[in-house]
Amino acid sequence: MNTNLARILERFFNVKGGKIKSRCKILWSAADTVAPDTDVGHWNLTLLDFGAKVCTARNPKCDICPLASQCYWFGSKRYASLSAIALYYKMNS
Ligand code: SF4
Repeated sequence: MNTNLARILERFFNVKGGKIKSRCKILWSAADTVAPDTDVGHWNLTLLDFGAKVCTARNPKCDICPLASQCYWFGSKRYASLSAIALYYKMNS
């Protein structure tokens, strides 16, 4: 468990891992629910690439992310922006 993988899991599942990510039971449990039964090494490397190129620490590329429809973080952001639009509409009508 490194910081990139922790960040993806925290965003996707809406969980907050502990300070020491490598020992956080919540994050390991989240990883266990989505990790494949075989070829875990390949899955791990894929997630590292994914964290470096798509779900980046700053400005994640949610618009091109294949996980967006299932990602809690993206869903809450979308909801927040819809709420902002609704509020703006209410204030200006
Ligand atoms: S939708 Fe965004 S926050 Fe969620 S996993 Fe994809 S890049 Fe990360």
